[in-house]
This record gives sequence, structure tokens and C-alpha cells, in this order.
Amino acid sequence: MQEDAYWIREKVKEHSKWFEDSLPMIASENVMSPLAKEMMISDFHDRYAEGLPGKRYYRGNIYVDQVELKCMELARKIFNCKFVDPRPTSGTVANMAALFALCEPGDTITTTSLDHGAHISTAKFGAVGQRGVKTVNYPFNTKDMIIDVDGARKVLLETRPKVAQFGLSVFLFPAPLKELQDTFDEIGCTVWYDAAHVLGLIAGGQFQDPLHEGAHFITASTHKTFPGPNHGIVLGENISEEMEKKMNSAVFPGVTSSHHLHAMAALAVTLAEWEIYGKQYAAQVCKNAKALGQALNELGMDVLCAHKGFTESHTLAVNVGAYGGGQQVSIDLEAANMITNKNMLPGDTSAVKPSGIRLGVQELTRVGMRESEMKEVARLIHKVAVKKQKPEHVKAEVIALKKNFTTVKYCIGDGFEAYKFHELI
Ligand SMILES: *Cc1c(COP(=O)(O)O)cnc(C)c1O
Repeated sequence: MQEDAYWIREKVKEHSKWFEDSLPMIASENVMSPLAKEMMISDFHDRYAEGLPGKRYYRGNIYVDQVELKCMELARKIFNCKFVDPRPTSGTVANMAALFALCEPGDTITTTSLDHGAHISTAKFGAVGQRGVKTVNYPFNTKDMIIDVDGARKVLLETRPKVAQFGLSVFLFPAPLKELQDTFDEIGCTVWYDAAHVLGLIAGGQFQDPLHEGAHFITASTHKTFPGPNHGIVLGENISEEMEKKMNSAVFPGVTSSHHLHAMAALAVTLAEWEIYGKQYAAQVCKNAKALGQALNELGMDVLCAHKGFTESHTLAVNVGAYGGGQQVSIDLEAANMITNKNMLPGDTSAVKPSGIRLGVQELTRVGMRESEMKEVARLIHKVAVKKQKPEHVKAEVIALKKNFTTVKYCIGDGFEAYKFHELI
């Protein structure tokens, strides 16, 4: 019905306005540049391409092929790597491709456990389990929020996995790839690094450089710290041609048919913009995360890893167990237009009522916030979470702060409204 169609549009419009008035701090989100956004509503969206550029199953891909080859060229340059497949339609789809290419049902791989920050795609009930692959977890140092290197070495030598997998959704500090490189060599395993959260930081030279620290493959989402479309990517280095072919076939026809050409084009645009603005953006993200951690800490809140500067990424983990727990605090923050998520912290037993919240500063940075705004954000979080001021009252302050930060920065067309709803008819 026409009314339903317009009603749906109104809801999306209301959502957009709400986010314009909010402080979005979900660590896996970001906003796209205007040029990238344009690609999302282009005719590319309406088309199909199956296979690789120049070797498609359908006609009509002359320009699609040119854009995809450019996308691959830019990715190779930015990540300084040999292999790229920009076709997975999300980070999870990229992970499924890796599981198809690198594992057989019945294999055992080594991973980090969920309660130490790993993603559901490496869980028994996620993609890993669906592939029939078993996991053995690395021991984790919960004080430093990092894999225990000696323990991991022991697990690797005992398990001798075909694949050693790394990467987290609460990714505060780099994974110990360099430290474990000798062990990887000794057992001859493939090293797979899930960079969904930190792809932008890696691309900006602000985190670790997995492909040059022993990882053979990176799988990632392209919409978290890397501020592109909701999409995925696989990158590779030091791998055989046979392995490259295997990965390509795992992506298509393994886990995709058409690969969302509009998103591929938006990814290409974001990579091109990254060459100009990426380093600067990624550096500011890391500075802002540390600044927010410091400010919350000075207000008396329990930000994890205070002894080592809180974080080296875009993410902070905060223990709010003393203030009602992650569930209640994230609900209250949402009522004040501060969007966060509850998160399990080491020692928690319930995913439904965990003691933590997770905060990411990548989007606030993208719309222009710097260290001084992080202090303001900390003050607002503290008012709601600790002082238990009425969220509706704090909301007015949130809206006032956000007013000057509603346009996308670090891109061509700097100044474009980040949250504006564009009506086509
Ligand atoms: C977000 C995330 C993914 C999945 O990404 P989607 O693009 O949402 O499918 C995979 N791995 C990790 C570690 C993540 O944090």
C-alpha cells in the first residue's frame, strides 16, 4: 500500500534525524563520504556481475570491470599486498569464504574465545561451527586484554592447527603475530587475521600490519574503522597462486553470487579518498580513543587497561558493573541519545546481563570531533551512567554538543550532511 511505503520512509527519516542528534558510539559503525554514498544509489545497484573482471558470466559489465580493477589496484597499494578480493558482501561472508578456502569439516583451528572479545563468526553457533570446524582457544591475559603469548605458543604446538585465527570485536591491543611467527613457521599453519574492526587503523598505519607480521590472509568488514560501505574484503600476502584461486572460488561461487556492485564501487571510492585523508583520520581516531578513556578515568569510571593507556585502537571497554551493569547503563545512555552496546567483560558469565559497555570513537571522529569534545562526551556519559541524572535532561546537552558535528570530514566534499535523508521523489 502507498501509505505503508510512505510510513516506512518516515520511520527511516526519523531514524536519520535521531542519529543526527545523537552520539553514535557503537564500535562497528561509521558514516560514508558523499561520493561513496552516491555509488550506493547508482545503477550499479541494479546489476549483476558474477566471476572476476574480464571473466564474467553476464554481459553489461564493461564499466563495472573498470571500477572493480581500480578497486583492487587501490587496495593492493594501500595494504601493500598481492592478493585482494573485494567481493564478499560483509565481514561474515569474508570469514565464511576463508573457512571454505582454508578448512575442511572436522578440522581444528585456534581462535580467541568469545568472552575474550572474539566475534560470533568464530563461535560454535556461528560460521566456524556451521562449517563443521572445531576450535581451541588461546589463553588470554585479562589484565592486559591481550593473548598470552607463551600460552598461545603452547596451544599452537599441541594443537598443530591447519589455521591459526586472530582478530576481535573488542580489539583494544594488537594480536601477538610477530611474537608467534617462529611458531607459525614451525608448524606450517596458515595465519588468518580478522580485521573487521581495525581495517581502517591498519590502512592508516596506526595499528599492527598483519600481512607483514606473518598473516597470510586478512578478512574484514569495510564499514567500521574503515568508513566505507557495508561490505567485506579479503586481502592476502605470501600465498601460493593455488591458494589465491581457492580463495577466489570460495568467495564466488562459494559464498556469493552477485557481489553488490554499488557497494564495491563505494569501497573503491573510499579507498581512493583514503589515499588523501586516511592516515590523518586513523591517527585522530586513536588519539580520541585515548582521550575519551583518560577523561572517563579522571571522572572515576573503570575503563579497562588504565595501566597501559586504555587502548591502542578506536575501542574502549568500560566496567559499569557498579552502576547497574551494561544492560541498564546502555538503555539509559540511549534515552539520552548516546548509542552504545552492553558487552561481556572477562569474568562475566551472562551475555544478557554483562558488566561492561563498549565504546568506539571512529564515527565521532569522522564527523570532526577531537580531544576536547571527548572530554565533553565523557562528562555526558558520566552524568547518565554514574550520577544517574535523568537521561531526558542530559539529552538536551547531547543534542547541543552534536549540533556542530553533523557533516562528514576526511573526505572529498567535506561538509556534506552525514545524517541527512535524501528524498528522490
Ligand atoms: C563485525 C565483525 C565481523 C562481521 O562483520 P559483518 O560485516 O557485520 O558481517 C567479523 N569479525 C569481527 C571480529 C567483527 O567484529
